[in-house]
Amino acid sequence: MSDFEGLTALVTGGASGIGRATADLLAERGATVAVLDLDPSTVAEPLTGHRADVTDDASVRAAVAAAVDGLGGLDVLVNNAGIGAQGTVETNSDEEWHRVFDVNVLGMVRTARACLPHLRASGHAAIVNTCSIAATVGLPQRALYSATKGAVYSLTLAMAADHVREGIRVNCVTPGTVDTPWIGRLLDAADDPAAERAALEARQPTGRLVPAAEVAGAIAHLASPLSGATTGTALTVDGGMQGL
Ligand code: NAD
Repeated sequence: MSDFEGLTALVTGGASGIGRATADLLAERGATVAVLDLDPSTVAEPLTGHRADVTDDASVRAAVAAAVDGLGGLDVLVNNAGIGAQGTVETNSDEEWHRVFDVNVLGMVRTARACLPHLRASGHAAIVNTCSIAATVGLPQRALYSATKGAVYSLTLAMAADHVREGIRVNCVTPGTVDTPWIGRLLDAADDPAAERAALEARQPTGRLVPAAEVAGAIAHLASPLSGATTGTALTVDGGMQGL
């Protein structure tokens, strides 16, 4: 399939996990793709890597400018960089709340702000934000993380309303538990990683964690010109975890 032929895309957090699978899939489907990441050292052709920290506005602006320069324009932004956090309102400090909101919410705001002038020039642009089912399902020990993803969900709807008349669609994906290095790190920290993985898999009606490539498939669906009438929506990719 080549629905992205002639289009350009920027994927934040694109060196690992969901972001990497998305960058690879968009490139396979014909897009020219750049990646923005804290550590783009593993990013190789046909992708191009740009180092930036989404909590640092100057570094985001510089990386977006360099990426758009290399791509020759910008049609798709995948706002995906994010970090996890465990705890309750009693155990997470104010500093942790500020830090995780800075990455997961303001990081998307800064990147979108730097990309919007270029997306406006596209005429048929799309932004896809990586949200989480944590935005809409009460999960224990996830107060801070869930609040950031709730903000990403609301941000998606508001941005869709702000930019629809400029030819920019804004949607989000809400993944469940996805098999990425992030989950690998959580499992490694458990007393019994194999038992912990089995427990996570048992929580999934499909019996398996969501492969990163299948979240990438949903992101590509929303970013594709074939979804030209879809804006202000959330697409759940959770193996049936929510609501079954
Ligand atoms: P990951 O850790 O495998 O990849 C995240 C990438 O983001 C890394 O390459 C990292 O370097 C980059 N990154 C982190 N902080 C950054 C910063 N300040 N500036 C620039 N880049 C930064 O994680 P993943 O599982 O692929 O998660 C990607 C997104 O998916 C996140 O927004 C996460 O909240 C969301 N998500 C993940 C899951 C899951 O189960 N893995 C579920 C729902 C949502």
